[in-house]
Amino acid sequence: MFEHDVTRRRFMEAGGGAAAASLVMATGAAAAPPQRSGGVQAIGQPMPTGVVLSKTRPAPKRADSVGFAIIGLGGYALNQMMPRFPQAERAHVAALVSGNPDKLRQVGDAYGVPPQSRYSYETFARIASDRRVEAVYITLPSGLHADWTERAFAAGKHVLCEKPMALSSAECERMISAGRRANRKLMIAYRCHFEPYNMQAMALMEQNAVGQLRLVRTEQSYRMPPTNPSENWRVNRALAGGGPLEDYGLYGLQAALYLAREMPESISATGFRPADDPRFSEILAHVSAQLRFPSGAVAQLVTSYDSAGGNIVYARGTAGSLIMDPATGYAGNRMVLKSGRDQRELTPGDSDVQFARQLAHFADAIRDDAQIRTPGEMGLRDLRLIEAIYASADTGRTVMLNPDGTMRS
Ligand code: NAD
Repeated sequence: MFEHDVTRRRFMEAGGGAAAASLVMATGAAAAPPQRSGGVQAIGQPMPTGVVLSKTRPAPKRADSVGFAIIGLGGYALNQMMPRFPQAERAHVAALVSGNPDKLRQVGDAYGVPPQSRYSYETFARIASDRRVEAVYITLPSGLHADWTERAFAAGKHVLCEKPMALSSAECERMISAGRRANRKLMIAYRCHFEPYNMQAMALMEQNAVGQLRLVRTEQSYRMPPTNPSENWRVNRALAGGGPLEDYGLYGLQAALYLAREMPESISATGFRPADDPRFSEILAHVSAQLRFPSGAVAQLVTSYDSAGGNIVYARGTAGSLIMDPATGYAGNRMVLKSGRDQRELTPGDSDVQFARQLAHFADAIRDDAQIRTPGEMGLRDLRLIEAIYASADTGRTVMLNPDGTMRS
């Protein structure tokens, strides 16, 4: 039983769970024309490494399957998400959007997408009259999410947007408003909410499996190979934000929130950017943050693009510990629950299901008008907290927060 009902309610109101998705989407006038975000543009890129295109076309789906257009044929879309569509009962790849005509042709042929449903960034607006497409899945660099979400809503489509939702809370608010105006749904692709280990961790916290939670520690780090902002969008501020926090570190922030199950009331943070390193000419190399929750629990998060890889989440309470290492991977996650002398390794299921499950969840939400587990409001909440982390790191001061994650003036 959750002991802090008031903070729990505020957590849910701040985008913490499915209840936040119950915001009624009003029908209204057509969405306003989209604005360009900060001068960054979608530009075609080569085929990513490691892509193996199937020679067998996907089997036809049931009649009520939702057709998705995929925007941004990058590593994550082509290696992880698109191959998982066949596992999602009511979702299929119906259209593609890319700035690289050769890649568009190769991927289109492999996925059986007809030529008339293959779009460039310039011809995207025509998708409005493509009846095969009901939803758009945005896997562009993060600085392009807001702009293309607005374009997709303007075309009358539902939007599944990769994490981070955008690079500022103002962008997130624009995206949510655009969805409401268009009367279309918005989901953020937070895959861990569909991953068996992380779902089990959430359930264990709800059951007080470690007693009263006192401490969460998260670490998401890896060493970025030599690069610079013109060749790699992940180190380009306009496309990636301030550094590893919006990318890998977001998993730690998310885990802290879904394990603590309340909103922090204050944040103190530091950032570090080494001099004379082209990887970090525009972004931070490390970010660390401490979140204090109304219950007294504390979360310590670290994330780095310049240290050997780690992906851990620890939750420690008055009666035991939950140790996840690795915590949020595509596969190979491990979880140990310790209580006194008792130590149990838990194996709640195959992590591979997370990709198809989130596609199926969004398709169900569209078809059945069901609540979305990871709505735009959750992405907005997270961007507010990221802004508070950067504000604290910039000023060296503790930032006090309102229950919705905005900073107290
Ligand atoms: P990527 O660099 O492999 O692919 C990005 C693709 O976007 C490119 O291939 C290209 O098709 C397109 N693009 C359009 N304009 C571009 C521009 N100006 N610069 C670079 N690419 C441009 O990146 P990725 O790893 O596939 O990440 C894409 C999105 O997916 C990001 O938002 C990222 O945060 C998210 N992602 C999520 C997960 C997850 O586990 N949920 C994992 C990886 C990436």
